[in-house]
Amino acid sequence: MFSFAPLSALAQLKNQKVVVVTFGGGARDEETFAPAGQENIPNLLKTLFPQSTLYTQVVNRGILGHYVATASLATGVYETFNNFATVPPQNPTIFEYFRKDLKRPLNDAWVVAPSNGFNRIGESSNRSYGAGLGAGVILPKHLLQASLPTGSSTDYSHLLRDNYETPFYTPELAGNELQMQHLEQILKLSVNDFVHHALSLASPDELSVYIAKQLMRQMAPSLLWITLHDIDIAHSGAYSLYIDGIQRSDRLCAEIWKTIQAEPEYKDRTTMFILPDFGRDSDMDASGNGFQHHRTGDALSRTTWMMVLGPDTRQGIVIDRPIESVDLVPTIGARLGFDARFSQGKPLTEIA
Ligand SMILES: [Zn+2]
Repeated sequence: MFSFAPLSALAQLKNQKVVVVTFGGGARDEETFAPAGQENIPNLLKTLFPQSTLYTQVVNRGILGHYVATASLATGVYETFNNFATVPPQNPTIFEYFRKDLKRPLNDAWVVAPSNGFNRIGESSNRSYGAGLGAGVILPKHLLQASLPTGSSTDYSHLLRDNYETPFYTPELAGNELQMQHLEQILKLSVNDFVHHALSLASPDELSVYIAKQLMRQMAPSLLWITLHDIDIAHSGAYSLYIDGIQRSDRLCAEIWKTIQAEPEYKDRTTMFILPDFGRDSDMDASGNGFQHHRTGDALSRTTWMMVLGPDTRQGIVIDRPIESVDLVPTIGARLGFDARFSQGKPLTEIA
């Protein structure tokens, strides 16, 4: 005779979903969770924090470039490739562990990524994983560019700027056809509706969240990774735009959480992880230029925070012991039931 217990345990594991949101391209504690920054993050602080476990010291010991750092978050290994090269991560990504170990189909893991430079993030070059086992990657800017009628892109220039760090690095991507297939078959959006709606959006991150919400509604992926990036406009040197980016990211995180609660496929079975990819330089470091860049590798640029919320997660808890960026993937592995065997990190035990 068989027992029903193992079956229900399995069913429970199978239904768990995870949404990871990276809180912009480089946000310092000083403008977020430090006392002087808290006014910028009312949603994280008042709405999400009471429901979450907050780690106050997440240390990133890797390279502080956005693509390589986000890839490191996604592999659980400090990747060492050139940030400005269109290459895949060298170690298996969370998407590959998830899909291979749990035998999940292609459409169950997706990345919404901010710039063309991120287009290889879904799948590593590791031979035991890699080809055919990664996540689908949607690049909302590329999608929008491919959808626009000729000559109309100036109306959308505020949504199309590809990156803030090196304006001259914008890899040309082939694959417009693939993007159009994503739009129509995966997102179930007509070109007209998409282009029309985009006009109402204020920033690239709003475009990303719009796409992510559509993806959640149409595909309901169990593993969804959203990389916000507006904050990196700080490279322009305008502090007010940096703060605007933080305030917008705060609002968008609350909007994503609200969507999770409103979508029956996600409600009560989704754990959300929110964390910056890294910080920015200290105003005190003589070799840096303060908030504008992340070049010195000082403690402030390496130390940020992470918020975890969802079912079976402790609420309103603050953990001050230092953890590392690479702990994210093994932690999600422990929750979903895959083994991040190449990761340098350790599962975080305090969240449950
Ligand atoms: Zn940057």
